[in-house]
Amino acid sequence: MVINILTLFPEMFRGPFDQSIIKRAQDRKLVQIKTHDLRKWTIDKHGTVDDKPYGGGAGMLMMVEPIYRAITDLKSKVQNLTSKVILLDPGGQPFNQLKAQELSKMEHLILIAGHYEGVDARVKEHLIDEEISIGDYVLTGGELPAMVIVDTVVRLIPGVLEKSTATQIESFSPLEIGNWKLENSLEYPQYTRPENFKGWKVPKVLLGGNHKEIEKWRKEQSLEHTQKHRPDLLKK
Ligand code: SAM
Repeated sequence: MVINILTLFPEMFRGPFDQSIIKRAQDRKLVQIKTHDLRKWTIDKHGTVDDKPYGGGAGMLMMVEPIYRAITDLKSKVQNLTSKVILLDPGGQPFNQLKAQELSKMEHLILIAGHYEGVDARVKEHLIDEEISIGDYVLTGGELPAMVIVDTVVRLIPGVLEKSTATQIESFSPLEIGNWKLENSLEYPQYTRPENFKGWKVPKVLLGGNHKEIEKWRKEQSLEHTQKHRPDLLKK
């Protein structure tokens, strides 16, 4: 998979993609992540990327032309890959695990991080395939949302995590108990050494080595946690 990120602040991406699982995924060529400064695609010598909104109003808007030129250029370099262009925007569709799974199957993603007041509406009207929001709040820019999406998507690419079950049995994955099937459940509690810390004990069932009992307990705990912390998931 190739992920191209368009931003006015490429330096912000240093760090999150240079560590741990996401770095290893790149080293192993499972994903190619490239961060681009949108100013590369400006036409004036000052590298202008934003301007005042028509009709007035606070703040600056990112201009349509550099974004158009960037998308066209990036797509032309990977013509053999199916591309999806995504704008990070608070007004977009809410991002969730299901969307992450869908995106992890794509060949080429272009993520556009807005900044300031956002982007010229013609970007939304003509240049992108979808708008995604990471939550009902407003950040200063789309850089952190782009990092959230890349991190969530990359760990789902086959081979990125050592054990594939790690992404099958985790929060927001389906849970089956008898004839019951939940599309979305929270993960069960997990414990590691020591068995007893300050009198806070690990549940006995986990120490006995009876795998059937452990599985049953975990499913029940998943259901209980989902009911308690995210009853909205049960309604879905
Ligand atoms: N004026 C915009 C509005 O009211 O919807 C907010 C612009 S925000 C300050 C600047 C940029 O941050 C946006 O263009 C978008 O790329 C990004 N952004 C902010 N909040 C976001 C969110 N919840 N999800 C995704 N992107 C977000």
